[in-house]
Formats: sequence, C-alpha cells, structure tokens
Amino acid sequence: MENILIVGGGFGGVKTALELSRKLSSKKANITLIDRNNYHLFLPSLYELASAYIVKTDPYQLKLRKTVSIPYEDIFKDTGVKVVQAQVEKIDLAKKEVITGGDAVFSYDHLVLGFGVETDTFGIPGAMEYTYKFKGIDEALFLNQRMLELYKKAANGRHSLPIKFIVAGAGFNGIELAGELAGCAENIKNACGLHHGCIDIQLIEAGPQILPMINDKERQIIRRRLEKIGIKILESSPIKEVGPNFVKIGEGGEKIFTDFIVWTGGVRASSFLQNITGLKLDAKGKVVVNPSLQAEGREEVWALGDNTVFLDPATQKPIPGLASVAIDQGAVIAENIKRIVLGEKKLETYHPEYGIWVAPVGGKFAVAHLNKSLTISGVPGWIIRQLVNLKYFLGILPVSRALSLMAEETEIFIKND
Ligand SMILES: Cc1cc2nc3c(=O)[nH]c(=O)nc-3n(C[C@H](O)[C@H](O)[C@H](O)COP(=O)(O)OP(=O)(O)OC[C@H]3O[C@@H](n4cnc5c(N)ncnc54)[C@H](O)[C@@H]3O)c2cc1C
Repeated sequence: MENILIVGGGFGGVKTALELSRKLSSKKANITLIDRNNYHLFLPSLYELASAYIVKTDPYQLKLRKTVSIPYEDIFKDTGVKVVQAQVEKIDLAKKEVITGGDAVFSYDHLVLGFGVETDTFGIPGAMEYTYKFKGIDEALFLNQRMLELYKKAANGRHSLPIKFIVAGAGFNGIELAGELAGCAENIKNACGLHHGCIDIQLIEAGPQILPMINDKERQIIRRRLEKIGIKILESSPIKEVGPNFVKIGEGGEKIFTDFIVWTGGVRASSFLQNITGLKLDAKGKVVVNPSLQAEGREEVWALGDNTVFLDPATQKPIPGLASVAIDQGAVIAENIKRIVLGEKKLETYHPEYGIWVAPVGGKFAVAHLNKSLTISGVPGWIIRQLVNLKYFLGILPVSRALSLMAEETEIFIKND
C-alpha cells in the first residue's frame, strides 16, 4: 500500500487527487490531501467578491464567501481521498515526512507539492504594508467593506469626492480588478445617492504598456474597454514608494494621493519552499522539475502549478501561472504516480499548452483569445468565460452541485455588472 500525500488543494492539487482516486483502488494507495483551509478557493472569481455589491449583507458575508470557496467535502465525497485541514510547517525529504501544525507527522511514498504563490512587492518601500492584496477571501471582503464605508461617509459629507482607487500592476489581474471596481463603485455610488464623477480609478503599470504578453489588437480592445468604463491608464510609471494614502511614481517623482491602493503587481513562489532541504529551486524560488514533473534529483517528489518552473520547449521561457496549467500538470502527475504504483517503467511527459485565455474587463464584457487568429470580445467573450467556469465546476463536483454553484455565482455577481 502506497501513501500518496498532496500538499495544497489548489487547482493542481485537487486535479491530482481526483485523478488518482479514479485511477488507483483504495487497496493500492492511501491518498491524502493537506490544505490549511477546508475549502478549494476558486481564485478567478475573487475579484468579483471584492467588488460585489450586496444591499443586505450579513456580518460574515457567508453568501459571498460560498461563491468562491468550494468545500473539499463536496469535491471528494465518495472518492476515498482523505482531506486534512492543517498548515504544513515542515517537510523532511530525507525521512519522507510532512509535519503540520500541532506536530502531526505524515509519512509518504509520493509527495506532490502544490503550494501556489504569495504576493511579491519587489522590496518597494511601503508596498507590503499599505496595499490591499488579493490572495484570500478575507482580503477581498475587507476591501469590499471599506469601499462601502467610504461611500457612505462621502454621502454624509464626511469624506471628499471623488473616492480614489489605484490599481498597481496592469497584468490580467490588474485589468480584471480595475474593471470590477468600476462596476461596483458605480452601484454603491448610485445606492448612496451620489453624483457622476465621484469615482476615480487609475491603473498603473511600470512597463511601457499594459498586458505585454498579448498582441496589439487584443490590447487595443482591452484598452478601449477600460477607458470606456472610466479607468485612467498610466504606463511607463514604476511605483517607487507607497504610503498610507499615496504612491510615488519614478525616482523623486510625483506623489499620487488616493483612498485605496490595490497591489496586483506580482507574485512569487511560496517562501515555504526555501526551507525544504534538498529541494532544487530556481532563482525565483520555484521548484525545478524534469519533463515528467518530478523534482530534480527526487523521483518520489512531484511539483505542479504556480510553485513550479517549467520551460516551454518551444520558447525556452517559463510557462505562465494559470489554472489550466496546474490542472494539466495534475493530470500528468496522477498518471505517472499510478504507473509507478502499478510497476510500469515508462512515464508520461508534460507538454505545455496554454494558448487560450479569457480576460474579463468589467461588467458583461470579456476578451477570449481562442487561438492566434480567433479572438472573441464583448458579451460573447463573457459567455465563454461563464462556460469555462461551468466546465471546471462540472469537472470537480457532482452535476447538481456544479449547476447550483454556477447559478449562485451568476445571481450574485451579475448584480455588479
Ligand atoms: C485573483 C486571481 C485571479 C486569477 N484568475 C485566473 C483566471 O481567470 N484564469 C487562470 O487560468 N488563472 C487565474 N489565476 C491564476 C490561477 O489561480 C493560478 O495559476 C492557480 O491557482 C495555480 O494553482 P496551484 O494549484 O498551483 O495553486 P493554488 O490554486 O494557489 O493553491 C495552493 C493551495 O495551497 C494551499 N497552501 C499553501 N501553503 C500551504 C501550507 N503551508 N499548508 C497548507 N496548505 C497550503 C493554499 O491554501 C491553496 O489551497 C488567478 C489568480 C489570482 C490570485
């Protein structure tokens, strides 16, 4: 009987565990997934959560929380996968042990590392302390609540208008958040009886242009959409310092004063990995793997998703951190562990495919890049986005639960659009 331990129940960890439970009987393997939460966080909807406007809120925002947190119990019901809610604190590769909070020790024959990433502010003074970040539900809800408070204050004449937002970093996360904030602020402003022109959202990018990784035509579509919904774009504007109510652009440059600063400028591999003796990491702290996704020099340790570096053989550049990448890698790792457990010699190789993306840009508008020559934008793009989410829910949940989750999400988030 093999002990398979999966650390991190993100997109990659969940896929690995589900696939393994389908491929290996409980007589062959014990499959355990450890995560610090008891739910799988559906990160692509986190911005909707931060910017959702609900008139009747309960103190803990349970309804909102449920739309992005999928209980592991629902995912792994009847699968044989054991889920442990605990913070992993130490991994001893030599002893093949994982130690969690409370000093519980888990031995393994195969270990899958899916820790994801954490926010990186690149040492910019004040950026870690004074910006809102988006890696978890509480952070998203905190911003949501603060926005509502500030608009109420402004409606009572206790805060000056416009309410100002800075979104720092114009990658996919930055443009999505800026777009959602615009919709939310509009709704709150109307509900508070405030006038036009009381929202000011600036999207600040250090590089020469927003979304450097996409083509010019798509960039233009997104730029036009952002401007249409009132977002100001500042390019070639590196943030050098952040204070409680300002950002400073460029060396000795101007200070822009603001009410909210949201950091979407970057992420780095989980710093936890640095403490694992014997694990080979690249310069950015990500796990180096072979083409079968085994950690270099450790054939019983596997790594996937955002905490892993994998060079695209076609470009020799690291592939991007995407949910679909983590999912595909999870499938390959599950297949390879199954083969080893069943005594097969040949392992599968991971072939990266990440050409498709969908970027929501406020309201019922998204840009869907389906291949080099096919881009669909506007409401049809938004429908594609909804279908992508539904496909994911159907892949991890029973059909009725997937459909009800999709219906709940759509009902709540559509109010913001
Ligand atoms: C706001 C946001 C929006 C995004 N939108 C999209 C999108 O629209 N499309 C897309 O393709 N990608 C999107 N991404 C990127 C995508 O979510 C990631 O690429 C994907 O989540 C990576 O999956 P993963 O399995 O590597 O890690 P994650 O999904 O991040 O999972 C990591 C897991 O590890 C757990 N964990 C971490 N440390 C510990 C510890 N010490 N002990 C126990 N558990 C631990 C965490 O709780 C978490 O469950 C988005 C990311 C963010 C932040």
